[in-house]
Amino acid sequence: MKIHEDQTAPVICRACERKVPMSQIKFDDTRKQFVCQNCYNATHPTKKPDEKPRFEARNQENRKAIEETMEKYRCTNCKYHFSRKKGKEVTECPYCGSKDIKRTTGTDASKLLDESDNYF
Ligand SMILES: [Zn+2]
Ligand SMILES: [Zn+2]
Repeated sequence: MKIHEDQTAPVICRACERKVPMSQIKFDDTRKQFVCQNCYNATHPTKKPDEKPRFEARNQENRKAIEETMEKYRCTNCKYHFSRKKGKEVTECPYCGSKDIKRTTGTDASKLLDESDNYF
């Protein structure tokens, strides 16, 4: 049994010259030498595991923000759906030019559609 090959045997970091347990030594491919975890992290910024979900969440927020600044419309003449920025007045369908335009809201769009279908 070779006790000296124990994972906890201290090894000197080539970068900061601190003695660290063998288990914390990493091969730094930038320095081309074995360094401690701290020095390794300094040259290899760790990507936090929650970085991606956070990014996706931000994307969703953006999408939500965009949706919130858009008004949805539907032409009752040709049934063309379109959206315009909030505050911008829409007077006619960009597709057929009809002035018969209904404003719809995101989640209620299908409901409104049903209602107008009944109306017709
Ligand atoms: Zn070090
Ligand atoms: Zn139209």
